[in-house]
Amino acid sequence: MIEVKNLVKDYGGHLAVKNASFTIRDGEIVGFLGPNGAGKSTTMNILTGYLSATSGSVSVDGYDIVEYPHEAKKRIGYLPELPPLYTDMTVGEYLNFCYDLKKVTLPRKPHLEEICRLVRIDNVYKRQIKNLSKGYRQRVGIAQALIGNPDVLILDEPTVGLDPVQIIEIRNLIAQLGKNHTVILSSHILSEIQAVCERIIIINKGVIVADGMASELSHSLSQDHSLTARIEGPKAEVMKLIASIRGVDTVTATGAKDGKALEYRILPLDGVDIRKALFDRLADRHWPLIALSSNELTLEEIFVRLASDENTEFVLKMQEKKEAEQNEADADQTETEENN
Ligand code: ATP
Repeated sequence: MIEVKNLVKDYGGHLAVKNASFTIRDGEIVGFLGPNGAGKSTTMNILTGYLSATSGSVSVDGYDIVEYPHEAKKRIGYLPELPPLYTDMTVGEYLNFCYDLKKVTLPRKPHLEEICRLVRIDNVYKRQIKNLSKGYRQRVGIAQALIGNPDVLILDEPTVGLDPVQIIEIRNLIAQLGKNHTVILSSHILSEIQAVCERIIIINKGVIVADGMASELSHSLSQDHSLTARIEGPKAEVMKLIASIRGVDTVTATGAKDGKALEYRILPLDGVDIRKALFDRLADRHWPLIALSSNELTLEEIFVRLASDENTEFVLKMQEKKEAEQNEADADQTETEENN
C-alpha cells in the first residue's frame, strides 16, 4: 500500500504540488491524469524517492520513503518519462548492470530471462540499445523497472512518442503486469488511462481535483443524471407508461423528433438504474426504443472541465455537493441510531 499525506513541493516559490493526499491499495491499477505541467512527474519523482518533498509524507508498505529509503525503494520499480538507458550497452549488458546497481539477490540468469520473456525483448538481448526502435527501448525501460521483482510499478507517460501499434503493445503489457503488481501510470491522455486503469486520480495545477473509479467519477461529478430516450409510440401513453416504471422520478417530452420517434427526458430517482425496465416495458407494448443515452458528463468532459480555468468553480461545486451528501448520510445514520 502507498500512502501519500499532505504532499507539497515548492520549486523555489513555484508550488508544483499543493497538499496532495491519496492512498493506493495493493493490486490497484491507478491512472494519474493531468494536463502538461499539472504536477504528475513531480509527484511520481517524490513517490519513488528521486525528489524530496517540501512537506508531507510518502510511505510504501508502511516504510517512509525518507526514513527508510532502502526498504521503500526496493518495493518500487520506476520508469521515468525519459528512461535512463545507456544506449552504447547491449540490452543484456544494461539489464545486468541494473541488476548489480539494485543489489538484487534473486538468481540472476533465470530472473533476467523471465523479465525478458515477459516484456518480449529476449529477441534483442544482444543488440545495442541505440539500434532499437523507440517501442523496444520503452520495453527495456520497463524491464529495468521489473528487476528485483518490486510489488509496485510507477510508469511516467510510458507511451509518449510511440506509434499507434507500439502504444497498443505497451498498453497490453501494462495490463498484463497489472495482474501481479500495483501499477501507477501517469498520462495526459484520457483514452490511455481509460484503456488500462480502474481508478483515476486527476491532478491540475498541483491539486488533486478528482479521485475515484472511472464509472463512479462520471456519476458523482455530473449534475444531470437524466436519460434521453427516443421512442416510437403515442406520446401521452408512452409518458404514462414511463412514469409508472418503478424508480422514475419525472418524465418530460423535449419536443425533438427522430423520424417517427419522439424524444423524452427521464429523470430516475437517485441511484436507480431504470434502463432494463424501460426497455422491457416498451417492448411489451411494441413501442420501439430507437435511442437511449445518458446525460451524465463523459470522462472526457469532466477532464476538460477540471483542467480548464472554470475548474475552480466546478471543483467548489463538486465539493459542496459531496459535503451535502456526507451531511445527509450522517443525518440518516444519526436518525437510525436514535430509532434503535
Ligand atoms: P508533463 O505532462 O508536461 O510532464 P507534469 O504534470 O509531469 O507535466 P511536472 O513536470 O511535475 O508536471 O511540473 C509541474 C510544474 O512544476 C510545472 O509548472 C513545471 O514547470 C514545474 N517544474 C517542474 N520541475 C521543476 C524544477 N526542477 N524547477 C522549477 N519548476 C519545475
